[in-house]
Amino acid sequence: MRIEEYEDDIYTCNRTRCGFCRTDCPIYQEMGFESYSCRGRMLIARGLLEGILEPSKELLDCINLCATCAYCASKCALSNVEITEALRADLVGAGFKDEYHERGVEEIKRNSNPYLKPKNERAAWAEDIEFSKTTDTLLYAGCTYPYIFPDWLKSSAKLLVDNGVKLNYLGNEEDCCGSLMLTTGFLDDFIENGKKNLDAFRNAGVKRIITGCPGCYKIFAEEYPKYFDNFDMEVEHITKLVSRMIDEGKIKPSKPVEAVVTYHDPCHLGRHMKVFEEPRRILERIPGIELREMEHNRFEAKCCGAGGGMMAAYPEVAVKLAEKRVKEAEATGAEMLVTICPICEFNFERAIRYSDSPIKLVDLMEILKRSV
Ligand code: SF4
Ligand code: SF4
Repeated sequence: MRIEEYEDDIYTCNRTRCGFCRTDCPIYQEMGFESYSCRGRMLIARGLLEGILEPSKELLDCINLCATCAYCASKCALSNVEITEALRADLVGAGFKDEYHERGVEEIKRNSNPYLKPKNERAAWAEDIEFSKTTDTLLYAGCTYPYIFPDWLKSSAKLLVDNGVKLNYLGNEEDCCGSLMLTTGFLDDFIENGKKNLDAFRNAGVKRIITGCPGCYKIFAEEYPKYFDNFDMEVEHITKLVSRMIDEGKIKPSKPVEAVVTYHDPCHLGRHMKVFEEPRRILERIPGIELREMEHNRFEAKCCGAGGGMMAAYPEVAVKLAEKRVKEAEATGAEMLVTICPICEFNFERAIRYSDSPIKLVDLMEILKRSV
């Protein structure tokens, strides 16, 4: 079992049982049962290790109802999210799979994206952007931006290309990063998918990957080095590059964008990868913008609810969490909710529509593009 790797952590938690991880766990708050918290899952893991529990269909919800938001990890010294992912891998390995996760994984294998979209339309957004086949820097677009928010992705790419960054793009040949596979426990598929990506990157001479999707960013920057011994590519999130380009005067936000905005920290960019300040620095450099923080921000930011396979398997819970976050955004008096994660944006878009919220959702690169 994969959880054996975390035996020390599992027993440390079982002896401690402090519960700091539960205080603001969005799923525990919603469901109200211990088994849906990290502490509860540590108990389940011990039960599995000791053979008191067997992998079963009944355990699926307890293990899968988690947004992998890493709030628990920010309150605890143990491998909280990794243990949830290992539990999921053990359930999948024992044949217990969530049907929506499995469908998403099969779609990735068939069409390189989990959204039931044709592979040959992946690059439709990029038609009038001049990419270069001779640079070793790759723009990795991911699945969600191209199919769901193509215009925002175009703004991101144009900001870089029009301001002197040479970028390669694999177009319709680009494959999914495999985040859904890894986070929902389909580990063998993740590794197979990763090998294909690495071959494609190497064939294109890639040495550096730039991406705007926090999920892809985490997968390439943190997970590929763990799973693929010889992975040596530099990986950077677009906010880090763009913030630096603004500091160096290579991107000059000058047209005023008169708006009061609030910024949502995507869990995979913020708590997971510790990128909190660059997005704020970008907003602060746009003339006319007033940034108002939500009550929960940076390490304490509330999750949008969509991550870790939640949007596929538990859409009602996911959208409820997004509605709570939208309410928090509204309470700042902001007219725009700005973020930079297409998965958060997908979920917020629904939450704003379902709750008739007056707040406008805008991608960070889109709002910057309006000023340049
Ligand atoms: S997971 Fe960490 S924070 Fe939660 S109960 Fe266990 S030791 Fe405490
Ligand atoms: S990752 Fe987030 S949703 Fe999952 S147990 Fe931790 S705090 Fe709760």
